[in-house]
Amino acid sequence: MTIFDRPLELLHAHSVAEAWDQVRRHTDIAVGLIDVVMETPDAGLALVRDLREKGYREMRLVLRTGQPGYAPELAVISAYEIDDYRTKDEITQTRLITVLTGAIRSFEHLRRISHNRAGLEMIVKSANRLFQRTNFELFCQGVLTQVASLVGVEPHGLVCAKTVGADGVDTCRVVSAVGRLQYTLGSVVDSAFDPAIAALCHDPDQPNPIIRNGAIAFHFASSVEGRLFVYVEADCEVAEEDLSLLALFSTNISVGFENLSLIARLDRLAYIDPVLEIPNLNAFEAALEVQRTKLAPAARMALMSVDSYDSIVAVHGPHTAHLLLRAVYRALIENGGEGLIAARIGDDTFALLGDETSLDAGLVNRAIERPYTVDGIEIAVSATATLINLADVAADPSEAMRSASSALLHVERTHRGQVLPYNTAMRADVDRRFGLLTSLRRAVNSGEGLSVALQPKVHLGTRRVVGAEALLRWTREGEAVSPAEFIPIAESGGLTQPLTDFVVDTVGRWARARTGLLPLPVAINLSMADLNNPGFARRLLSRVALAELTPETVEFEVTEGVVMQNAMWAINQLQALKSEGFKIALDDFGSGYSSLGYFDRLPIDTLKIDRAFVAPLTVASARHSLAAIAVNMASIYNVGCVAEGVETAEQCQILEFLGCPVGQGYFLGRPVPIGEFAAKFLEA
Ligand code: C2E
Ligand code: MG
Ligand code: MG
Repeated sequence: MTIFDRPLELLHAHSVAEAWDQVRRHTDIAVGLIDVVMETPDAGLALVRDLREKGYREMRLVLRTGQPGYAPELAVISAYEIDDYRTKDEITQTRLITVLTGAIRSFEHLRRISHNRAGLEMIVKSANRLFQRTNFELFCQGVLTQVASLVGVEPHGLVCAKTVGADGVDTCRVVSAVGRLQYTLGSVVDSAFDPAIAALCHDPDQPNPIIRNGAIAFHFASSVEGRLFVYVEADCEVAEEDLSLLALFSTNISVGFENLSLIARLDRLAYIDPVLEIPNLNAFEAALEVQRTKLAPAARMALMSVDSYDSIVAVHGPHTAHLLLRAVYRALIENGGEGLIAARIGDDTFALLGDETSLDAGLVNRAIERPYTVDGIEIAVSATATLINLADVAADPSEAMRSASSALLHVERTHRGQVLPYNTAMRADVDRRFGLLTSLRRAVNSGEGLSVALQPKVHLGTRRVVGAEALLRWTREGEAVSPAEFIPIAESGGLTQPLTDFVVDTVGRWARARTGLLPLPVAINLSMADLNNPGFARRLLSRVALAELTPETVEFEVTEGVVMQNAMWAINQLQALKSEGFKIALDDFGSGYSSLGYFDRLPIDTLKIDRAFVAPLTVASARHSLAAIAVNMASIYNVGCVAEGVETAEQCQILEFLGCPVGQGYFLGRPVPIGEFAAKFLEA
């Protein structure tokens, strides 16, 4: 006897115990025919109840009884999902077949639904775990299960990633596999591979889904990674409605893959300079940390800056300047040989790590002795550098970097174009830092020399000013000291809180003077040191209230470094600000943050794309630029987006084209003293 073209297999049980035995041994029983009366007059009913209660929901159950008196009540039939109830003499052969056919059909339906649910659950789960290492694998498995269940087959399938190697040849490798095809995991789809699968895999020019030779396949292209190929065995007819479901599903999946690869790409960028694609400051500090644990006595580092880099950019353009830096980097690495580590740690600054044999003044000099030819232009390079024995500086990598940076600053000021070993004279720079700290402390108390500048944030489409950023200015004995120099000093000296208070008060006065006019949100930068301070948010909120600032008139900016370094602390502080309605922007997004793992937990409203991402934008590369990725990130997380450091009309156009609504930069408006801002940018 066959039903739906499949033979019936009968399993027999003569007691409740035997029935359980069968149920445990066979996971795919479609229908149970159960006698009400077995060991006891209602053993069958009890078995039905127990089966359902133990989670056997899909198996269809048909009750049979010889004695009408033992008929289950209607309540029992519905409570335990009994499909049918028959007395013995009712069950003729035709009846039995009808009953079984109906039961098997609904079993198939139920099973399909639960497969569907399992696939969906996996996809939801993988979305939730997007930030964990296992996510890609989990996501792929979810996709395979889901495709199979959409067409009602068991999941047997695989996912291949196609990468183009250095030799320009495509390699297709199985990165996830389930069911019968599990054995293919890790193998390359080549001539030894199943030819039917290989043919589909190497034929990406078909619209999704491809249904051919008892299989369903999809090709996905991601803008950052290579291509992905999904293959699921499906030896069945694919119904019309399933086809449209599959097509819909494939668009969802392609978005999912795209997001996964974007995130993988950004994670890699944590250690890569986005412009030169060489190690960055993060990578260098990590290498320093490793060196420290090795306790190599001869270990040394150098900082080297390319002189007049700004002029090189101005004369030859950023593209050529970047090519030049890359050539310098290559020369350093080639001359330094094995074991030398080089990284770009600033616009024009490289950091080098090696030992006495690989790293000396000669290395730097050799790298710049001859002019470079880039883009057909000959450019002579001079450089300033300082060599430091690691034993002479603090063991902590960021502390060592700070000493090294002040040493380099010193050499730049006093012996530009030379390579000098770090020595006691350079400690003078440390003295300068100390002098600055002392004056800053005085300035904070008296307010003398401190002021606030505002820089407009401009809507790129309408060119309307939609906000401003407050930037602190300090003049010490007639010399304007850059915030890039004095903010870190204030941080190390515990002076950030009064500085932040100064900015809050100044912005508050400005906003009060504008009462009655349309409010303009002014962003105040918060310091790394601030956020690590317990009770900081509470203090800030009361200061803001005293200054009569509201979420309409003030916002805050924090740098990625801040949030990532001390994640939970900082996040709680930010949450406290946010719960009072204040907006928070993540500043300098993309420049050497340490991890993306916390990103989805950050209570932020806006991403500010670092100018390192904006600077290299060209029309030709816009779509695949890092700025485009950042704009996408903002839209994925449904937060606003501001591009920093917009210096040209072309950058404006490209950013607008990429979907970034707001820009800030010299082209759109330079920072001006707060008293001149309204006249210059709001009343024109
Ligand atoms: P930031 O918050 O990223 O501020 C933007 C910086 O970029 C400002 O430098 C601004 O003058 C500069 N900038 C704006 N447009 C352009 C452009 O088109 N090209 C270029 N090359 N630069 C542009 P500034 O004023 O020197 O401030 C440097 C950093 O110091 C700020 O970076 C911020 O992190 C910090 N800072 C400034 N004021 C404060 C403050 O009141 N509190 C704290 N904690 N930090 C502050
Ligand atoms: Mg800022
Ligand atoms: Mg910034």
